[in-house]
Amino acid sequence: MTTDPRPATSPSGLVLPITPLAEPGKEMPVVVRSPRRTKPPKHWIDLSIEERVDAVKEMGLPGFRAKQISEHVFVHHDLDPQNWTDLPKAVRGQVAEAWFPELLTEVSRQSCDNGTTVKTLWRLHGGSLVESVLMHYPATRHNSARTTLCISSQAGCGMACPFCATGQGGIQRNMATSEIVAQVLAADRLLESGAVPGAGRVSNIVFMGMGEPMANYKAVLAAMRTFIAPAPHGIGMSARGITISTVGLIPRIKALTEEGIPATLAVSLHAPDDELRDELIPANKRWKVDALLDAAWEYARTTGRRVSIEYALMRDINDQADRAAVLARQIRRRGDWTWAHVNLIPLNPTPGSRWTASRPEDQDAFVATLERWKIPVTVRDTRGKEIDGACGQLAARGRAEGVGV
Ligand code: SF4
Repeated sequence: MTTDPRPATSPSGLVLPITPLAEPGKEMPVVVRSPRRTKPPKHWIDLSIEERVDAVKEMGLPGFRAKQISEHVFVHHDLDPQNWTDLPKAVRGQVAEAWFPELLTEVSRQSCDNGTTVKTLWRLHGGSLVESVLMHYPATRHNSARTTLCISSQAGCGMACPFCATGQGGIQRNMATSEIVAQVLAADRLLESGAVPGAGRVSNIVFMGMGEPMANYKAVLAAMRTFIAPAPHGIGMSARGITISTVGLIPRIKALTEEGIPATLAVSLHAPDDELRDELIPANKRWKVDALLDAAWEYARTTGRRVSIEYALMRDINDQADRAAVLARQIRRRGDWTWAHVNLIPLNPTPGSRWTASRPEDQDAFVATLERWKIPVTVRDTRGKEIDGACGQLAARGRAEGVGV
């Protein structure tokens, strides 16, 4: 076992330590299809390369302006046409009005871990709140420096996990591709301003913020394509730097497998047996553990990318050594190559709550069992303990303070 300096994630893979909210007895429905709520008007980022050329031509501008505009967006991370001095002034206003509606309004920004973790709360068009978290990891003897951004893909979440702040708030709406991408552009702008000393550009993106990314598949896939498209038509990142998490929407995992994008799949498992997982992850009533792990294994086989199995250790609920053995068997029987890596996520101790941190000796026994089965395992370190930690908690507080819906 190693201690990984990467962020803790919530049981869906959501970043930062968890402050579980709900106690049993309150069951919410799983909602895969998000309500139709006001999305922002179509943004330049939402257009295909061809549509961008058509857009400028429709404005009476020469086609090369499309590339120029995309350079401002994806290379210089600047979404305000008024700053683009290489565009005639009259044209800037026209472009702004047609294709650059406001996407994200910063509500608050908090930092901790000596300024290397920055959490931003955003208000979307229509008032919903989402958050993104930037984490810079300086180089060590074994690892080069990296800067990871954890992004949201939905306002709220329809998966109704009983321990999760976001899940208990329900789904508000899917985010548009442009809103998803804009979180990365904003982070790169922040990094360019020197706000996080020593950090370069965003090197890794994890879809582990608010929402279930696979429930907003079309927009998430388009965002992934924008992240990996070469500049100036996209951000030009490596697909290997992208991680997409899911509680297990199997048809979407299968669809992603077919896309041929070598991103990392993170499966928020949290229990290796249906009996317990039905309770922890309501979506499991529809998509069972065996079928989920088969789909994950197929993803690993097809893409050659090791799947990350996320497992939040909850005291006396899922942290028994016996369960570790069941998990190990589930992984090993699908192949003895290391197709899966288990990320154990320690919960924050929450005295009196049903959902609280495992005893250290139980955590150690769980790890030792997996290691005996030769399953690669990591216990995640936590980031952001000083700021609101639970997924959706910052957004929930923003709502309470009247800054969002
Ligand atoms: S309710 Fe949604 S955000 Fe919360 S843990 Fe479940 S899938 Fe993740």
